[in-house]
Amino acid sequence: MPGQSNNRAMIPVCEPFISGHEMEYVADCLYSNWISSKGKYIDMFEQGFSRFCGCGHGITCANGTSALHLALASLGVGEGDEVIIPAFTMVSTAFAVAYVGAKPVLVDCERHTWNIDIAMIEKKITPRTRVILPVHIYGHPCDMASILEVARKHGLFVVEDAAEAHGAEANGRKAGGMGDVGCFSFYANKIITTGEGGMVTTNDADFAERARYLKDLAFSRDRRFIHSEIGFNYRMTNVQAAIGLAQLEKIQEYVDRRRKNAWVYNRLLKDVRGVTLPVERQWAKNVYWMYAIVVEDDFGVGRDHLMQALAERGIETRPFFVPMNRQPVFRKMGLFDNEKYPVAEEIAEKGLYLPSGSGLKQEQIEYVCSQIAECSRVRS
Ligand SMILES: *Cc1c(COP(=O)(O)O)cnc(C)c1O
Repeated sequence: MPGQSNNRAMIPVCEPFISGHEMEYVADCLYSNWISSKGKYIDMFEQGFSRFCGCGHGITCANGTSALHLALASLGVGEGDEVIIPAFTMVSTAFAVAYVGAKPVLVDCERHTWNIDIAMIEKKITPRTRVILPVHIYGHPCDMASILEVARKHGLFVVEDAAEAHGAEANGRKAGGMGDVGCFSFYANKIITTGEGGMVTTNDADFAERARYLKDLAFSRDRRFIHSEIGFNYRMTNVQAAIGLAQLEKIQEYVDRRRKNAWVYNRLLKDVRGVTLPVERQWAKNVYWMYAIVVEDDFGVGRDHLMQALAERGIETRPFFVPMNRQPVFRKMGLFDNEKYPVAEEIAEKGLYLPSGSGLKQEQIEYVCSQIAECSRVRS
């Protein structure tokens, strides 16, 4: 698990950064007995975080995966429907589509932002398509204006998977606040954390009401213990929200730290042959949830070899996601047979991410970069 390495000598790939009012707010929950899913921290965290995203409504969830499921269920997506997702993503995006009984339809990614290739979306739209679900990979926002244009033209919903992009911006607008719905995770390695947790953000009051209803077991509003639909228990606790509120108070600092760390990495790695660095499009604000690089052929040694060498030098890394068309679970379901996503498949083999936590020190980054440069030199 990220940040939970037992070997304290390792530089971890990512650790939560807890430096504010977390203890005080959690103690307040415990002393006041408000430890379940009602309480002031839930309201304050929902209001504060949704406002941060430029949204009028936020619905806390048990985790990011349940936020994605809740978003699709609340939009009424189900059997017979298709949802367009990137081939290159974390599995939760595809699982959420499967949970509602809809079919995930994949689109390849771009070589440099690693985000869904917007030019290829339209070819995948059919009469059954209901939703485009882009993912802001590793903290770089998708070009939402272009995605929204395609979606509006075809009458589709846009759900953003913003689990990796708290605070990222496209043309000055925040991730999770541009589509019809945004979905966030607050897992321990995300930019802000509640331990486990998630949120759905939206500006649509009717959607927000429906999501709140489905998240809380679809309790009837006028008669207790009458249920007309299948709901879920996706509630977050007040204790988690208390941590979330304390984290939210520092979110700008965390984003700034990650961006500054990325600039240090960029400066120290730019002359290392065969390493492709993360980009930041001129309309975008990348929050570098993970500082990710692609090891090209002329680096001399392969990605797995580099990861092994860095591990031996006390540096923890992670490989890129394995594309959805390569996942045995979907193959077994007969999905994505003979489909090819060459860019996703290539970067999946060559990409890794380096230590990226908000608490990373400049000396640690300098050490990581010097070790990478050394590995490239050793090869020949
Ligand atoms: C972390 C993540 C999720 C899921 O979040 P959990 O809180 O772990 O369920 C979903 N999508 C993406 C892209 C993620 O990185």
